[in-house]
Amino acid sequence: MPAARVLSVAPGSPAEDAGIAAGDEILAINGEHLRDVIEYQLQVDAAEVDLEVRRGGLEQQLVIRKQEGASLGLELAHAVFDRVQTCDNHCPFCFIHQLPKGMRRSLYLQDDDFRLSFLYGNFTTLTRFTEADFERVVGERLGPLYVSIHATDPDVRTRLLRNRRGATSLRWLELLLDAGIEIHGQIVVCPGINDGAVLDDTLLGVLDRFPQLATLGVVPLGVSAHSREPEMRPHTIAEARAVVEIVHAWQTRFASALGRRLVFASDEYYLLAGFDFPALDAYDGCVQHENGIGMARTFEAEVRAALAGDDVAPTGVRSGFFAAVDGAPAEGYRAPRVSRSPRTGVDFKSHGPEIDAGSMRRRVGIITGELGARVLAPLVPALGERAGGAVRLIPVANAFFGGNIGVTGLLTSADVATALAAEPEGDRYLLPDVVLSRGRFLDGQTVAALPRPVEIVATDGTALVRAVARPGGDPQARS
Ligand code: SF4
Repeated sequence: MPAARVLSVAPGSPAEDAGIAAGDEILAINGEHLRDVIEYQLQVDAAEVDLEVRRGGLEQQLVIRKQEGASLGLELAHAVFDRVQTCDNHCPFCFIHQLPKGMRRSLYLQDDDFRLSFLYGNFTTLTRFTEADFERVVGERLGPLYVSIHATDPDVRTRLLRNRRGATSLRWLELLLDAGIEIHGQIVVCPGINDGAVLDDTLLGVLDRFPQLATLGVVPLGVSAHSREPEMRPHTIAEARAVVEIVHAWQTRFASALGRRLVFASDEYYLLAGFDFPALDAYDGCVQHENGIGMARTFEAEVRAALAGDDVAPTGVRSGFFAAVDGAPAEGYRAPRVSRSPRTGVDFKSHGPEIDAGSMRRRVGIITGELGARVLAPLVPALGERAGGAVRLIPVANAFFGGNIGVTGLLTSADVATALAAEPEGDRYLLPDVVLSRGRFLDGQTVAALPRPVEIVATDGTALVRAVARPGGDPQARS
């Protein structure tokens, strides 16, 4: 029988008052055995919650009374209590197949589970989706979901997933859309396989079969130095340009047929192609911001608004490629945007007393990936003006993964440490929190492994301006 293991209990919460402790296992709530945090959330909503708890092999019943809708205050070790549905595909572009050996085991999990799609925005191919899953998604209105489309041609999709069910599993997409479930799609483009005429054909297939799709992101494949797939290679500039041009042509067609653009190329494509990013309002609300679509323009707008003194709510951080493997937030399906980072546990809002601006200005180095540096570079002069001193970028090459991997979210401590070791002592160093998950880099290290103290800053333009403008830096800088 699946059980939910308690990772931590919020101080002063109803769960703490009831005596629940880290390590306890929740066997049932209100008499229901739970499969995942979605069912957990539904059950704990009531004002009176009946729990069956196991501690050290002993089971006991507890009744917790609280306000209806209030959280119990439990952080659970996993979002899925039974078994995560793993994928039975063998995509040649799969990034998990391209990880170096020796990373923590959870990073190698290849999930294809609609629940993780709902909870964390992971993409599912639907090749293992079942009738029972369909009934649950529709019955519990579990949307939005995120579906990997890649190609609508059955043969091409089969080739890309290396799974015969790839040819037919998009029928679930049709049924889910017909049932009114909000779904966002993604196409990972592999040059020579699903770009060019195949991409054109896929977008025609989307218009024909899936016009209710909310958005569709087109992203380039990542090729790390550990790829063992000779067919998989980075785009040339001409190929990247052709993809962006196809997307733009289809935005016009979708807009005239459906009244919205529907398809968007990722920021990485504009960088690869050497094109300017579209205007912010051409992203129709940046719904796939977390997938790197419209992130650059959003970041820029946040920086400019914060520099102008406007009070804008940050859009939120990209949760990171591996966000789903590190537990389930206590406060709901998706961790809320709060002053204390739910992933790092580090408070990025309150930084102690203000320090005299005149006496304590220090130079600021902003740590970022190579692609991030290209987005941030035009903003550096204005940031320097706000800081009243020198602000510079520290682009970190990703030697750990190698290949064409340039996004900030995949930086490891080893590469950040190499870059920081070449930088002077005494400067301030800002580290975007997207590189950390629960305080750890992808290689398992913490910021303690770095040769210079760093200030962890939320990965949005508003937080960056605040951090840069802080006169003496963060007295809590971690080293
Ligand atoms: S479906 Fe996803 S996890 Fe599975 S092989 Fe393909 S890319 Fe990898």
